[in-house]
Amino acid sequence: MRQAALVAMTALLLASGAACRPDPALSGTVTVPAAGQAFDPPISRLRLPEGAWYCDMGTVEYARMEQGDGVCPVCGMALEHNVTAAH
Ligand SMILES: [Zn+2]
Repeated sequence: MRQAALVAMTALLLASGAACRPDPALSGTVTVPAAGQAFDPPISRLRLPEGAWYCDMGTVEYARMEQGDGVCPVCGMALEHNVTAAH
């Protein structure tokens, strides 16, 4: 009885874990070149490495590791700095 319940719980955990596991291609941290890169389709800000400069349109269409002129070359918006301390 007790063991059956444990097996059922383990099966449930495994099943939910598989369902919730994020696709690495969609959720992993991206590599952002110093010179910048446009993302099409845009990516989540959560995927940017620490210290990246990025265009925040809700999602990220452009990011780079150097501030440069601080302006998105795609849309002209001011770039945001991805720093944990600021949030
Ligand atoms: Zn932009």
